[in-house]
Amino acid sequence: MKIVFATNNPNKIKEIQLVLPDTIEILSLREIGCNEELPENQDTLEGNALEKAKYVKEKYGYDCFSEDTGLEIECINNEPGVYSARYAGPERSDEKNMNLVLSKMKESTNRKARFRTIITLILNGEIKNFEGIANGNILRKKMGMKGFGYDPIFKPEGYEQSFAQLGLSIKKEISHRSKAVEKLLRFLNALQ
Ligand code: IMP
Repeated sequence: MKIVFATNNPNKIKEIQLVLPDTIEILSLREIGCNEELPENQDTLEGNALEKAKYVKEKYGYDCFSEDTGLEIECINNEPGVYSARYAGPERSDEKNMNLVLSKMKESTNRKARFRTIITLILNGEIKNFEGIANGNILRKKMGMKGFGYDPIFKPEGYEQSFAQLGLSIKKEISHRSKAVEKLLRFLNALQ
């Protein structure tokens, strides 16, 4: 089965390829000739995931899945949420985004947070959503060099280190994205 993963983020393609069987061939946006930014104009993860998948299907004709992820922090009303990428401004700086989170949470003892991923699949004319959640806590400072985004300040439940210290092999087991992908895979495998 050939299916497009509608993302411009090579880190995500790398993570997802690790958990996909050989029978499913993932095409990147570049491979289908899509070099533009995908639209993300909605105010929910679900809305953005659907918007991106529909864009690829309607403009390029491929069945595809898209993904949208946000970091939801309890003590600041689930911010940054759908605005995670551009939380501190349009330049999408991971450093600035993390600094803003840490400064907003300076006084807070409630450090509870979760990463939430929504995958939207458009296949054979049907639309399906798959959700994955990783619960954890926000650290008081950045720890670790692996990973991307908010990984250095997120400590997943049951672990004593940040995602950026734990690295890809652990993230593959427990991350929000892996859990959503697992659900997607179960669905795709049941079709075969
Ligand atoms: P996107 O809209 O799904 O590309 O992600 C929104 C924001 O969340 C980006 O700033 C990413 O850096 C961040 N993000 C997404 N997934 C992860 C992750 O697995 N770890 C850390 N940050 C992430």
